[in-house]
Amino acid sequence: MSELAYPYEAPASQALFDRAAAVTPGGVNSPVRAFRAVGGTPRFMVSGTGPYLTDADGREYVDLVCSWGPMILGHAHPEVIAAVQEAVARGTSFGTPAEGEVALAEAMVERVAPLEEVRLVSSGTEATMSAIRLARGFTQRTKVIKFAGCYHGHVDSLLAAAGSGVATFALPDTPGVTGAQASDTIVLPYNDLEAVHAAFAAHPGEIACVITEASPGNMGVVPPLPGFNQGLKDACAANGALFVSDEVMTGFRTSRAGWYGVEGVVPDLMTFGKVMGGGFPAAAFGGRADVMGHLAPAGPVYQAGTLSGNPVATAAGLAQLRLLDDAAYDTVNAVSARIQSLVTEALAKEGVAHTVQTASNMFSVFFTDRPVRDYEDAKAQESFRFTAFFHSLLSSGVYLPPSSFESWFVSTAHDERAVQRIADALPAAARAAAEATA
Ligand code: PLP
Repeated sequence: MSELAYPYEAPASQALFDRAAAVTPGGVNSPVRAFRAVGGTPRFMVSGTGPYLTDADGREYVDLVCSWGPMILGHAHPEVIAAVQEAVARGTSFGTPAEGEVALAEAMVERVAPLEEVRLVSSGTEATMSAIRLARGFTQRTKVIKFAGCYHGHVDSLLAAAGSGVATFALPDTPGVTGAQASDTIVLPYNDLEAVHAAFAAHPGEIACVITEASPGNMGVVPPLPGFNQGLKDACAANGALFVSDEVMTGFRTSRAGWYGVEGVVPDLMTFGKVMGGGFPAAAFGGRADVMGHLAPAGPVYQAGTLSGNPVATAAGLAQLRLLDDAAYDTVNAVSARIQSLVTEALAKEGVAHTVQTASNMFSVFFTDRPVRDYEDAKAQESFRFTAFFHSLLSSGVYLPPSSFESWFVSTAHDERAVQRIADALPAAARAAAEATA
């Protein structure tokens, strides 16, 4: 570990982490927040403004996580906050239909052409879980194809990521997922259409759907090779299965119409979360009206939620979507490109092997000089260099995702001052990466 690894203390965060560990497993409510991949004290944040987060010790960071994607306008955007305040003053949950959820669904349908109908839920996990159930109910088939390295939330059947090679039946990835749940999941290598064709051939009439991240960001950013998503769509169509595109991360982030807007491949079902909730728990699944028509109460496939379409969450999401015009995406794309080139410049100067991969304004830095096309490639990087790089940047007030298998996220609020902070921090971080040892 380089001497730069932990050059500073975070006593207030550490005290909170100790308190948290006494009442919460591992001290966090979502595992990656615990910094286990990089070590050190997770920062407990107390506020966010624009591109900055401030922790319990009063240190300010340029935020390159953006709540894992949602905060595309930066933190505490005044118009989003105003919409939330207006909504919250009218009551926080009704348990009845309300206009806000209609308006949010209309805004989504207007932006994303394949989305004919939408059902709102509260998390991306719920969205993918419900989409899979609907696909099974609609096709009356049981098996699901997913890809190694793609994350679709902690849905039991989708936590089966183990196995490589063609049509390997997955083993559960975690205790608590039964063999039966995992055995209906076929895990294939990402970007490998031949494996998909072989799986369809091996299981005629059994596969309900193929689910894929529209452009994966959960093994780091690994975009689909040209023709891959279209190939999935065609294979599904030829075999009576549904093509489910998970846009929880890419939706309304990679363009006004998400990854669909970039690539134009038409899915049967899509899932959303993150940006559409404006920082609140709102997510959705939707797609072909004839498929969505199978959902209760219109059809027999059951799905429900006490807080689905919550009025505060829908107000935040709608305000955020309305602010995301073409100019906003131009801004986010430009700042993303700027930071990418600063990172490349700094790492190249220190002779650190690296590959920056992008999907519109999502990007990540792999510590390898080889292109990363699937999960095996991603795992082959020198992650120990990331650890040193991460801690150096953190000590300079730049907050990266605490894992080398994540996308970095920027916002419209990342202005010159924020970018300059990153530029100033990068030379030392690149040096730390260069000096790091396994
Ligand atoms: N799908 C994708 C592509 C995701 O990136 C995530 C979360 O990161 C999910 C689904 C699950 O969403 P949530 O964490 O809201 O349950």
